[in-house]
Amino acid sequence: MLSYPLGTMRDVISSREQAPRHGPGHLLVDGTDDRLHRKAKLAFNPTAAQEAALLGLLYACCETYNAGLQERRDAWRRSRRSIGLLDQFNQITQLRGLRDDVLAWGIQPLRSSLRRVDEAYSAFYRRCAKGQSPGHPRFKSALRFDTACWDESKGWAADLSAGTLRIQGVGTVRLPQGAVRQLSRLVGRGGVPVTLTVTRRRAGTGWSWRACIGFKAVEAIKTPPAAGPDAIVGADRGVAVTVALSDGALLSVPPFLAEARDEISELLRRRDGKTVGSRAWQALNHQVAKAYRRAAQRSDNWARQTAVELAARYGVIVLEDLKLKNMIRSARGTAANPGTNVAAKQALNRKLADAALGRVRHWICVKAEEAGRRTWVVNPADTSRTCAACGHCAPWNRRSRDLFRCAACGHEHHADLNAAQNIAARGHACEAAWRAAGSPRLTRPEPKLRRRKATTEPGIARAA
Ligand SMILES: [Zn+2]
Repeated sequence: MLSYPLGTMRDVISSREQAPRHGPGHLLVDGTDDRLHRKAKLAFNPTAAQEAALLGLLYACCETYNAGLQERRDAWRRSRRSIGLLDQFNQITQLRGLRDDVLAWGIQPLRSSLRRVDEAYSAFYRRCAKGQSPGHPRFKSALRFDTACWDESKGWAADLSAGTLRIQGVGTVRLPQGAVRQLSRLVGRGGVPVTLTVTRRRAGTGWSWRACIGFKAVEAIKTPPAAGPDAIVGADRGVAVTVALSDGALLSVPPFLAEARDEISELLRRRDGKTVGSRAWQALNHQVAKAYRRAAQRSDNWARQTAVELAARYGVIVLEDLKLKNMIRSARGTAANPGTNVAAKQALNRKLADAALGRVRHWICVKAEEAGRRTWVVNPADTSRTCAACGHCAPWNRRSRDLFRCAACGHEHHADLNAAQNIAARGHACEAAWRAAGSPRLTRPEPKLRRRKATTEPGIARAA
């Protein structure tokens, strides 16, 4: 009997769609969980033999993915039959004796590949059901298949006293000191390792390897917030000021990407002199990618630190519900509907990426959950043009990027701080509505493994 692997970690932070509505906002995190899911990310250096085994594993996973996809497509094309995840899981065990080479790493990583097929199909059907026209799931190239997953703690084990990670079919790899400390902390908080993900990344002419270990039942560290248990803070996220707080603080992420841009354009200049595809050209490309990654990492660190400080101070954190993806996607438009003012919007997009607004929200949710805080997202409409003092709403209230002056009562404030106060006010309304409803706890849907019903599947029929 198959049990649902505990490993899928997407239910850690409830998404916007699942978050219940109270008043003008949605409750993302209620901070009532005592036990949490947490991940530890670490780098490791396999030996040459271990690396060869890991590359073989990725190849086997890719082969399984493509075979799983092929089977579903064929079944539908030939007999209008749909195949579910369970059916495919059961077939893996039948490989014994036939394809012992792909079973060298155990069954888990192959199952995870099939799960990825299933997820691709689920996403495809979901978008079909919404009336969109998604592309049919595609075969993957082994050159780009970079991740293997274990959804259960079988076939691998971390040994913290020895500082090693043992993977079936690969061997025992040494872990860096920092990684062992990180894992020990999570285990010390009662964490039970459940999932493993191994990812390769190009580094020069070879590979660098990362592992991500998912823990469940990690104890939350709940401390009373410094500003009082029910202290609410509103945070306005923007491009000029990354985070403006209703308590008057203006926080801006240092321009890490802008700092890296000189280095990047210098690398690109040097690349222009090289033959496309040559070793030197490739090496320069990797350096460019590395510079981007470093800048993104620094923005991420900043966002995490900001979230830690917010969660330490306040009991309730209120954000506005920005549709970042829409903001970024809208710039170029489509061929049929080209965007206007593309250059200016692209400049904005670069700044948006720089400002790492999405990372701020992500880390606020993570740190709020860990510290036992509530987090709300509220409708952002009119927050920047409504007067926080008298409630008068007019576009001309906002005199310039920074200045807000109310046309009705003359109230003057920094525009972003005014917006943050409006967001905090909506947060108060959310809290009141939530209390009126009896302070219900967030419920997380239990993940289920179901056989999909064989119904008409428009997308496949079209692709066939
Ligand atoms: Zn006013």
